[in-house]
Amino acid sequence: MGKTTGFLEYKREDEGYLKVENRLKNYKEFTVPLKEEKLKNQGARCMDCGIPFCHSGCPLGNLIPDFNDKVYKGRWKEAAQILHATNNFPEFTGRLCPAPCEEACVLGINEDPVTIENIEKNIAEIAFKEGWVEAHPPKHRTGKKVAVVGSGPSGLAAAQQLNRAGHLVTVFERDARVGGLLRYGIPDFKLEKKIIDRRIKILENEGIIFQTNAHVGQNISVETLKADFDAILLCGGATVRRNIPIKGNHLKGVHQAMEFLKKNNQHVDGLIDEDEIISAKNKKVIVIGGGDTGSDCIGTSNRHGSTSVTNFEILSKPTKGRPAHQPWPYWPMRLKTTTSHKEGVERFFSISTKEFLGDKNGNLIGLKTVEVEWIFKEGERPELKELPDTEKTWDCDLALLALGFTGAEKTLAEQFGLEMDFRSNIKATEKDYATNVKGIFTAGDMRRGQSLIVWAISEGRQAAHHVDAFLMGKSNLPLKEEGDLPRV
Ligand SMILES: Cc1cc2nc3c(=O)[nH]c(=O)nc-3n(C[C@H](O)[C@H](O)[C@H](O)COP(=O)(O)OP(=O)(O)OC[C@H]3O[C@@H](n4cnc5c(N)ncnc54)[C@H](O)[C@@H]3O)c2cc1C
Ligand code: SF4
Repeated sequence: MGKTTGFLEYKREDEGYLKVENRLKNYKEFTVPLKEEKLKNQGARCMDCGIPFCHSGCPLGNLIPDFNDKVYKGRWKEAAQILHATNNFPEFTGRLCPAPCEEACVLGINEDPVTIENIEKNIAEIAFKEGWVEAHPPKHRTGKKVAVVGSGPSGLAAAQQLNRAGHLVTVFERDARVGGLLRYGIPDFKLEKKIIDRRIKILENEGIIFQTNAHVGQNISVETLKADFDAILLCGGATVRRNIPIKGNHLKGVHQAMEFLKKNNQHVDGLIDEDEIISAKNKKVIVIGGGDTGSDCIGTSNRHGSTSVTNFEILSKPTKGRPAHQPWPYWPMRLKTTTSHKEGVERFFSISTKEFLGDKNGNLIGLKTVEVEWIFKEGERPELKELPDTEKTWDCDLALLALGFTGAEKTLAEQFGLEMDFRSNIKATEKDYATNVKGIFTAGDMRRGQSLIVWAISEGRQAAHHVDAFLMGKSNLPLKEEGDLPRV
């Protein structure tokens, strides 16, 4: 445990941020880390609560009080070992996780919770800086070959686990660089891509083979994969973007958020020129959708130098505090204000977009909205009601659709003969991650639908155990203990 009286002595302290005007000048991460002494005090706030609910709040089952204790004592190497025992990539979750663990922290009942996510990031960063994160190639090879399709966090976590079990793993990625949405969705100001590269180097040194520009089902046939590998794990993500089927959605200036973000990340990465991106410079931008993707579009638009950024969300405005029906330790749906929001945006809730308006040349010049109300009835799906006399027209020359994803692409399912579920994910249960075709497994967003990095890593680890058991009859790869909290 941390320090017995730590939670009485120290207040929660988060890392700092560079000033908005400075951080908008580039795409670099802009956090200012706490000094080591302060970090130790934050670890000391963990109070040996007896039943650490944070464990079950974390989809990976991270051993949070154990690493907090080591941080408090300045034993960073042991903290890093504990953290890596359950999480292959704490440098990603330490930056990007919404931290359901903190919502389940016992201290959070009447105080600010322990800064678990930030402690995790610092453990990971110190471990890299000190050279403690090293390649550990397996001592023995099993002679079995596994293909992992997709190099997002689920595919990478699964690949590392399966390689540790001694299988020869090849990761196939259709994009030019590895990382999935870490690389091409999430902007550099949240995750600089050198953070992914240094981890990939370790995985390569452990013996994992990465094949990029390798689109399974297109330039790599499923027959080749089936013939060459003993097992196949599909981690292709939930990449089908939700559209908005209204008049004018074909106009020049209406774009999917992922098209906008991917091109920008490719440009920051030096893969494409500035004139190939979708630029928000000097434009009145409206971002439709109030989630993580929408927030990333806001931060990117402000860095481009947009004239204004407005954000619409169709759901009603959540409360700042915990809603009464989501008490501790459950994950609450409350108002989230991100660092990108703080860089400049006007946010509107309970707004539905009815039409995009164009000029005679087919360029977007505005959009029409209406205010809505959600009607909740016991046992029925919520109903959306448009409020009379609330129609409004907005000026806009760039509309970004950040409406989420509707499931996995069908190509792989069709070519491998896999069943899909009613939510358009590839069908496999958490029991064994196996599809209806023997030897083919699936994990991550492709199996569970649009989710989080922490879930993708968790799914990759769990699936790896079951693939290993399929190949060897049993597996020593760890499985997480199941918590009893409803999951984010
Ligand atoms: C803009 C944005 C911001 C986000 N921000 C956050 C955040 O801050 N925190 C958080 O926790 N989560 C966030 N998420 C969600 C998170 O990124 C995903 O849940 C996570 O990346 C899913 O991991 P995955 O491995 O299942 O799939 P993905 O990361 O989607 O990776 C799938 C990979 O498979 C490849 N692929 C697909 N089909 C094939 C094929 N046939 N052949 C070869 N390769 C193929 C794709 O090119 C891709 O690289 C965000 C998502 C988006 C879109
Ligand atoms: S991975 Fe996320 S939920 Fe788990 S301990 Fe880290 S911040 Fe918390």
